[in-house]
Amino acid sequence: MINVTFPDGASRQYESGISGADIAASISKSLAKKTIAMTVDGELADLADPIDRDVALRFVTRADDEALGLIRHDAAHVMAEAVQALWPGTQVTIGPVIRDGFYYDFYRDTPFTTDDLPKIEAKMREIIAANRPFTKEVWPRDKARDTFAAMGEGFKVELVDAIPEDQDVKIYKQGDWFDLCRGPHMVSTGQVGDAFKLTKVAGSYWRGDSNREVLTRIYGTAWAEKKQLDAYVTMLEEAEKRDHRRLGREMNLFHFQEEAPGAVFWHQNGWRLFQTMINYMRRRQNVAGYEEINTPELMDQELWRLSGHLEKFGDGMYLTDPKDEKIFAIKPMNCPGHVQVFKNGLKSYRDLPEKVAEFGKVHRYEPSGALHGLMRVRAFTQDDAHIFCTEEQITEECLKVNDLILSIYSDFGFDNIDIKFSDRPEKRVGTDEVWDQAEASLKKVLDSTGRPWGLNKGEGAFYGPKLEYTLRDAIGREWQCGTLQVDFNMPGRLGAFYIGPDGEKHVPVMLHRALFGSLERFLGILIENFAGHLPLWLSPMPVKVATIVSDVDDYAREVAAALHAAGLVAETDLRNEKINYKVREHSTAKVPVILVVGHREAEEGTVNVRRLGSRDSKTVPLDEIVAELAYEAMAPDLKRALEAQRGATRSDQRIDVVEVFEGFVVNDGAEGLSSDVFEHREEAVEMARRILTERGGGIATVSTLAGETERMTVDPAE
Ligand SMILES: [Zn+2]
Ligand SMILES: [Zn+2]
Repeated sequence: MINVTFPDGASRQYESGISGADIAASISKSLAKKTIAMTVDGELADLADPIDRDVALRFVTRADDEALGLIRHDAAHVMAEAVQALWPGTQVTIGPVIRDGFYYDFYRDTPFTTDDLPKIEAKMREIIAANRPFTKEVWPRDKARDTFAAMGEGFKVELVDAIPEDQDVKIYKQGDWFDLCRGPHMVSTGQVGDAFKLTKVAGSYWRGDSNREVLTRIYGTAWAEKKQLDAYVTMLEEAEKRDHRRLGREMNLFHFQEEAPGAVFWHQNGWRLFQTMINYMRRRQNVAGYEEINTPELMDQELWRLSGHLEKFGDGMYLTDPKDEKIFAIKPMNCPGHVQVFKNGLKSYRDLPEKVAEFGKVHRYEPSGALHGLMRVRAFTQDDAHIFCTEEQITEECLKVNDLILSIYSDFGFDNIDIKFSDRPEKRVGTDEVWDQAEASLKKVLDSTGRPWGLNKGEGAFYGPKLEYTLRDAIGREWQCGTLQVDFNMPGRLGAFYIGPDGEKHVPVMLHRALFGSLERFLGILIENFAGHLPLWLSPMPVKVATIVSDVDDYAREVAAALHAAGLVAETDLRNEKINYKVREHSTAKVPVILVVGHREAEEGTVNVRRLGSRDSKTVPLDEIVAELAYEAMAPDLKRALEAQRGATRSDQRIDVVEVFEGFVVNDGAEGLSSDVFEHREEAVEMARRILTERGGGIATVSTLAGETERMTVDPAE
């Protein structure tokens, strides 16, 4: 007899060799019906697997987290059967579960197209309706090899050969159709359900190797419930509408072309947006104590050998032909260059932490099939920084980086941040004590955020643990952007040291951190997150001034000049076109504000304001809208600085209006007594107000000869 313990702590005795299905049936019919798999001592397993020892057992139903993976995996098998039933002679290769779904790679002379998908889906529904049980068999290696060879499934033969000798060759059958598979599976094809959909086809290579056969990859998505599928499909449609490649064209931001795969041609609007990002980041980094540097893009490959990149990352690196008897590498990372800057000149512990930042353009090879707009490129700009510090400084510096990351994401409207912690891998450098300390530092950071975080056990780099920041966009997609990595290895490898208080040489710890990660990719994410409706401070073309009739051209130029004077980017549209045509065109280009001017506006000194996405328009005085837009177009950090300054001025900027025998004088604390004597109290108060408004606000007091004092607050925003 064996003892089976259930999650609620209860346990029961069974005959050894009993299956999970029989155990479920012994408890209740309804449980047996809704169970699709089980976990045995935490490991997912087929419900049909026999149990021959004491175990902890948990039944898995469609409502459990593990169910999605099983449903998707089984759906991939069902799809493969459907494809082979419809197009005999098609060879199957592999079909893994991926995020949100699954795919299967097929080999066939004629590649599949999206037109084939409805047909395949229909066939899949037939197979699901037949509700055939999944059964597992373990085959001798030779039998598996010979069977697949006889079927003409050359790829499967290769896969059988690749299974290590000490592992079973497992076959999962669903009726007559079968596939080589590690499992586990659900009970029968019927459990795949109807919440699935095939989404797209793409080309791929066998084993991801461009020298091997070209395959067609069919993607699908599958869910436990129909409403989850519907929500996912809606999200995909929404994502398609927001595709940054299309918006990039409509907003005239950038383009790509054959001659430079994976490298961006930025147009003037896009480059302005890019520079807005850099300027913002530069300000934030300056305040946070980083020094901006710049390091060479081409460096002797020997340096990359020394740093370990050539060995670990060589496939992703571009090398030059030998020049000056040397081979140079285009940098794929900025780290080794930053270590060279740190090493230049003797450093003392008093110099630490040293924080260097670079908007470093790096190049990394990506297969052309993997390239995707700004999201996946070969040439990109990192907002890269490295902090050289002592072991004692790790915690404090990590906390600062974390605060900076979260604050910056928040400025871009991302407050839903997921943090993942990757701790020590099996193969690593550095002593356990140092790892203990580094991990404790990062855990402290995680605790300080008060946010939930996840652990990627053993997934840290061999040189140190790391945090990864994933943000969730407006339609629920997740993007991993920022990283913070503790490194005990590279500084020593490249010979960096500082002189400690003991007068000895010590190797500094290096923190690698990037916030946007790749600026190109972050911009892609931003464009999609906002569906092109960028906030005014990011918008590369925030205001267009459009005329209704050509005789107000001069007034339109006046309006644009007023906007320029307030620091806004604005253009006029004086074309001889209907105003609706102009508005439509600028709306497509996602211009956030269109100021329409006609006769009435020119006469009254007003503009008609139309905001992107709003049907309403309002007519307002020019100076009013200029002030409003100028404030709105300020970057969030500048706005905060202004608010803080206003707060500060309000209490310490003070102007006294004092009554004297001849009238009223304006006593300015900063400038001294004014020589003007105002006959009327109102004039003097007005002067005090004007000065305070210019200075961003403050307090005005009025003292009369009778000894009365009046205080008033002047706030320019009011
Ligand atoms: Zn399988
Ligand atoms: Zn680095």
